[in-house]
Amino acid sequence: SGGFAPAPESSDHVLLEKQYDLFIDGKWVKASSRFETTNPATSEVLAEVGLAGKKEVNLAVKAARKAFEGPWGKMTGAERGKYLFRIARLIQERAREFAIIETMDGGKPIRESRDVDIPLVAAHFFYHAGWADKLDYAFPGKKPKPLGVVGQVIPWNFPLLMAAWKIAPALACGNTVVLKPAETTPLTALKLAELFQDAGLPPGVVNIITGAGETGQALVEHPDVNKVAFTGSTAVGKNIRRAVAGTDKKFTLELGGKAANIVFEDAAINEAVEGIVNGIFFNQGHVCCAGSRLFVQESIAPQVIRKLQKRMETLVVGDPLDKNTDIGAINSAEQLERIKVLVDAGQKEGACMWQTEGKLPRKGNWFKPTLFTECAQSHRIVQEEVFGPVLAIQTFRTPKEAIEKANNTPYGLSGGVWSDKGAKVFKMTGALRAGVVWANTFNKFDPTSPFGGYKESGIGREGGVHGLAAYLDL
Ligand code: NAD
Repeated sequence: SGGFAPAPESSDHVLLEKQYDLFIDGKWVKASSRFETTNPATSEVLAEVGLAGKKEVNLAVKAARKAFEGPWGKMTGAERGKYLFRIARLIQERAREFAIIETMDGGKPIRESRDVDIPLVAAHFFYHAGWADKLDYAFPGKKPKPLGVVGQVIPWNFPLLMAAWKIAPALACGNTVVLKPAETTPLTALKLAELFQDAGLPPGVVNIITGAGETGQALVEHPDVNKVAFTGSTAVGKNIRRAVAGTDKKFTLELGGKAANIVFEDAAINEAVEGIVNGIFFNQGHVCCAGSRLFVQESIAPQVIRKLQKRMETLVVGDPLDKNTDIGAINSAEQLERIKVLVDAGQKEGACMWQTEGKLPRKGNWFKPTLFTECAQSHRIVQEEVFGPVLAIQTFRTPKEAIEKANNTPYGLSGGVWSDKGAKVFKMTGALRAGVVWANTFNKFDPTSPFGGYKESGIGREGGVHGLAAYLDL
């Protein structure tokens, strides 16, 4: 596909079109209407994107079926792997462009999109490229077969990374894809479609259709979709379970969370404070596995809270494109409103709120790093997912009490334990009802590790061999 333009230095050089169409059957297809996507840090319109209706969803599923029955379905794993390797390398080459667009469309600090999101996207494609010709080896004694056409719906908090989590394993296993990004962050998925064209991916293997909930619903309900993979809220996840009930569609759901981050008195306190900050303020707290409930052992609580407040005061809130920024913009006005409602409820219900000093930018959507003490288990800020930079702190005396409090939630996605004692760490990780538990660290991701939830946090795993199995008929 010829040479590549040099990577852009700043947002001024980013090639963003004014309008984007839908990517169906390897071509750009006009939708009957469009909607705008804005920069949440400035409220300026970035581009207009196509709104896919039932007609376009149908076209996309048809294209995916044709590709599955055609060249893609007949390819060897090694050949599929070559495409995935090529895609991974192209992402690395264009990493800066992807990072800048991700930050402009979603509001996350450039340091995070540059150092976390985009490298993990490439890692995910590399990892799954390596599996494509080794599926028989991964599942000895089985005859792994692809499922067919997969409908994938993703959220706005890690737009490109969630697209990679969905697309890479699906393709490695020989399926074809129709993916719908979230309505507030469609741009990097559309850029990814351009990259698929450059990689020479056969038409119809991946189709990207933009739109809101109705588009997602039409995709999920389409009779010719063999598997639904969804990441998003628990409420929509429940709708999807209803939609697939009574059909033979396979499904995986990655839903909300309310992780407990548990700090024992024998932990390295300064490191724990860093872990607490990373746990709740990474990506403005728009993280399904965010450590949004902090449990501190009573003996060290005053010290930890004092250090935490001091550290929070150093967090730079502002322009997401500035490399010094720690906390970017809240993804949308609707999300900002949801955060405010729960923070108001926290105050009304009697918890004690503390926020950092400092001014917020005038334009765009912002929320200050916030913590609550004096929290009770029944408070909404303890029970409900805020999905913002808001931490609810409670104390405990014994490991047993910490486990009981941590597990007292409808969610079960992730958790964290901070302690110097290995035996205590293992006891805790075994007792916490959560899909992933980090020890003396937080928010670490790797394509080799399966990720997913217990209880209302979802069904199925993504990543690792378990993630592959979810895209295969074994
Ligand atoms: P959301 O459920 O509102 O939207 C997610 C996606 O589903 C969007 O693309 C949306 O357009 C689409 N959608 C909305 N209604 C639909 C319907 N009826 N049928 C089909 N699709 C529909 O969630 P959100 O606000 O975009 O994302 C935040 C939520 O996602 C949080 O609860 C968070 O915890 C969760 N999340 C979970 C994980 C995980 O891996 N477990 C990762 C990221 C986000």
